Amino acid sequence: MSMTQQEADFASRIEADFVQNPVYTGVEQAILEQRLPPGTRLAETDLAEFYGVSRTIVRSGLQALAHSHLVTLRPNRGASVANPSPREAREVFEARELLEPRSAREAALHANRSDIRALRRHAQEEHDAMSRNESGRALRLSGRFHVMIAQIANQRTIAGMIENLVSRSSLIIALYWTRSSTRCDESCHNALIDAIERNDADEAEELMRSHLVELHSALRFDVTDTSNLTLKDMLSQ
Ligand SMILES: [Zn+2]
Repeated sequence: MSMTQQEADFASRIEADFVQNPVYTGVEQAILEQRLPPGTRLAETDLAEFYGVSRTIVRSGLQALAHSHLVTLRPNRGASVANPSPREAREVFEARELLEPRSAREAALHANRSDIRALRRHAQEEHDAMSRNESGRALRLSGRFHVMIAQIANQRTIAGMIENLVSRSSLIIALYWTRSSTRCDESCHNALIDAIERNDADEAEELMRSHLVELHSALRFDVTDTSNLTLKDMLSQ
C-alpha cells in the first residue's frame, strides 16, 4: 500500500515524537512498563554508565522526558520519575472527558479517506504491540491514537492540550491501572474509527465519552510501592 502525502505527514509526526536518545527511549519504556516506580531517583552518573553515553546525552534525554511529563527535574536535586498525585490523575482524566468527546465529533465531521487509513494502520500497530506483549509501546501507541483524532478534528489549540493530557495519562495509567485487561482495548478504538468513517458525529462523541469514563474508572489510587531495587536492577529487569 503506498502512502499519500498526508499519511506520510502523519507518520513523520509520529516519528518526530520518538526522540532518538537511548536514555529517553530506555527510561520511557521502563516507566511505562512499570519497572521504575514513581519518585525513583535518576542519577546522571548511573544513567551514563548504564547506557554507555555522555552526561550531555543523559541530560538531554532527561529534559525530553520532563517535557513528556514522565520525569520531574528539580534544581540541585536532579531528576526523578514523576509522581502524579491521585488528585492530579483525576483532574487529567476529567479534562480529557471534557475535551475529547467534542474532538471525536469534529473528527467525524472532517475525516477524509487518508485519515481513516492512517487511523486503521495505527490501530493495527497497537494490536501488534499488544499481541507481542510490548506493554510500554502499546500504551504509548494507544495514547497517540487519541492525539491523532484531535489532529483530524483540526482544532489546533485543543489538539495541543489533548497531547499534553495524553502524555500525562500514559504515566498515570502505568501507575494506577489495576485491571488485567488491555487498557485502550482495540474494540473501542475500532468502533471509534468506524463511527468517524461513517461521519456519525453523535456516535463518535458518545463512544469517546464512554471509552474515557471506562478508562478513568479502572484506575485505583491506593497502590503503594515497596521496591528496594537499585536503578540498575530496575532498568535491566
Ligand atoms: Zn483509547
